Amino acid sequence: MMDLPGLFIAPVFHFSDLNGSTTRRVQFGDGAGIPIVGDWTGTGIDMPGLKIGAIFHFGNMDGSTIRRVQFGDGPGTPVVGDWDGTGTDKPGLKIGAIFHLGDMNGRTIRRVQFGDGPGTPIVGDWDGTGTDKPGLLIGSTFHLGDMNGRTIRRVQFGDGVGTPVVGDWDGTGTDKPGLLIGSTFHLGDMNGRTIRRIRFGDGIGTPVVGDWMTSNFTFDADISAANRARLIDRHRFAIGRIGGCNNLSAAERESLFKAYQKPIRHSTLNEPGINARATIGGSHLQVNFGVLFPQGNTEISQTLIHEMMHSAGFTHPDRRDPPTGMSCASPNPSLFDCPFDNGQYYGTPPLRAELCIAGSQSLALGLITQKAGQERCSINADGVATLYTEFSDTLEVVGASDESFDTLEIIRASDESFDTLEVVRATDGTFETREIDKYC
Ligand SMILES: [Zn+2]
Repeated sequence: MMDLPGLFIAPVFHFSDLNGSTTRRVQFGDGAGIPIVGDWTGTGIDMPGLKIGAIFHFGNMDGSTIRRVQFGDGPGTPVVGDWDGTGTDKPGLKIGAIFHLGDMNGRTIRRVQFGDGPGTPIVGDWDGTGTDKPGLLIGSTFHLGDMNGRTIRRVQFGDGVGTPVVGDWDGTGTDKPGLLIGSTFHLGDMNGRTIRRIRFGDGIGTPVVGDWMTSNFTFDADISAANRARLIDRHRFAIGRIGGCNNLSAAERESLFKAYQKPIRHSTLNEPGINARATIGGSHLQVNFGVLFPQGNTEISQTLIHEMMHSAGFTHPDRRDPPTGMSCASPNPSLFDCPFDNGQYYGTPPLRAELCIAGSQSLALGLITQKAGQERCSINADGVATLYTEFSDTLEVVGASDESFDTLEIIRASDESFDTLEVVRATDGTFETREIDKYC
């Protein structure tokens, strides 16, 4: 998630980008009501909504109404959040000191007393567990609570002036305090420091906050609904990895976030062996669904983040393969390119961005797959196999179980059918599996 400021100036929602430019305007309703913003359908994109009387109106990005839910009897301050971790936001009300948390059928699923009544309600996922929890701004202190009404953290932010907003300002998966003061959104961290200021609007309107990254993406008509949904899902997975990715500099992460706000047109590519293609600094991404999608979700996100880096303006030279007699068993970045060598090819932003997804670089896996065609393999009593590959005239052990690319473990398919193998790689201490569909 990467949250951005917005303003409701009745009846129009104005959504900002990181620069304070309007990336989208959506008219919703006729001016009445209290604005709310949330992900009503689980796409990852936040959309407009309104509480009018006792009815929560949940809207779409085209201004249509997705759903109307009666929740409560009218009184109370609306809050919306994902109370149960299902991936969609739901209605809620703060009445007195009680947060009434509802579902999409208008039922109360939980009541949480937090504080004594005073304070401006805020809700957010303070600890990255995937559920939103109550909070209050009282004076200049953000009191962040849990579902049992306990305070898990107090953050002083600002001087008591301004309207509170909360969001995940840096894409790290937790919501943090912010304030709209005049026309400037001051976005803070959990230590009460300002990490970003975005000037948006003229000081009028009600602030709203949400993630509208990718909401300007377009998809050619020949792309099926299923492929389109998977593309968005994989893009959004990639976005969620950017904030905490140390393989990119702060400036590179910023450029990438900005690229995701562009109106990227997606079209179909039919070119053998090519996963995808994007114009440098452009807004056109071509996807070879038949080639890329069977490679699995990790590879899709890796490819997309690489291409989005191209859209962000970054490029890389052609990859230099090892000359005869040499291989990536003995990397030589001055002569040829090998995964993780951080050289003139793998060290470029698009290739480093791939590391954000699962700690691997696409062509490393491509190399394994390619080499698997010449494999020799032995399997021990535990079903763990080691793959040996003839590469040029040297016998080489390929793989990356320890990230150093000098061993590769392969285990047999759990169904013992012996015709699908899984590559097991350690990534940040965890294991990833990947089918390479090869006989051993
Ligand atoms: Zn590229």
